[in-house]
Amino acid sequence: DEDPRIDGIKTKIRVVPNFPKPGIMFQDITTLLLDPKAFKDTVDLFVERYKGKNISVVAGIEARGFIFGPPIALAIGAKFVPLRKPKKLPGEVISEEYTLEYGSDRLEMHVGAVNKGERALVVDDLIATGGTLCAAMNLLAERAGAEIVECACLIELPELKGRDRLHGKPLHVLVEYH
Ligand code: AMP
Repeated sequence: DEDPRIDGIKTKIRVVPNFPKPGIMFQDITTLLLDPKAFKDTVDLFVERYKGKNISVVAGIEARGFIFGPPIALAIGAKFVPLRKPKKLPGEVISEEYTLEYGSDRLEMHVGAVNKGERALVVDDLIATGGTLCAAMNLLAERAGAEIVECACLIELPELKGRDRLHGKPLHVLVEYH
């Protein structure tokens, strides 16, 4: 019994084969953003799920977590904290490395942006292998002492079993792509 809005959201996500490299089915959410109803439905579905849950911080992952995180944060009365790629934040940072198919990358967060005991929601557009969300949760929970309420993504690629890397923390997605 899926929410009727989900179907409209699904049809607005464009799948681009072999981008940015051969074999990748790229899930393009820019086409969703072009449709004000589908964009609003997406934000509303998350807001309905998280309002009243005492979430004090929404952490968005660069770059597409910066599109969906802030409207959710505003609507539920939480602050927004950007988790950024290396060397973008000007203040003192904590950072977590994660592995990619080839090599590794890092996510950084400003020291003091999140306090011990805060209730955090982590937002990104998509979970593939789960490495990115895992690094984000390490920053928030292990490093800053926050409590992860949930991770929220628009899209999950279930074949890649990214959920298994989330240390049992709940993940909520709107759409699965098989
Ligand atoms: P992962 O760390 O493997 O879970 O990868 C998730 C991150 O990579 C997210 O920030 C996504 O935006 C991006 N990503 C990975 N695979 C795709 C894909 N097939 N389509 C769009 N974005 C992707």
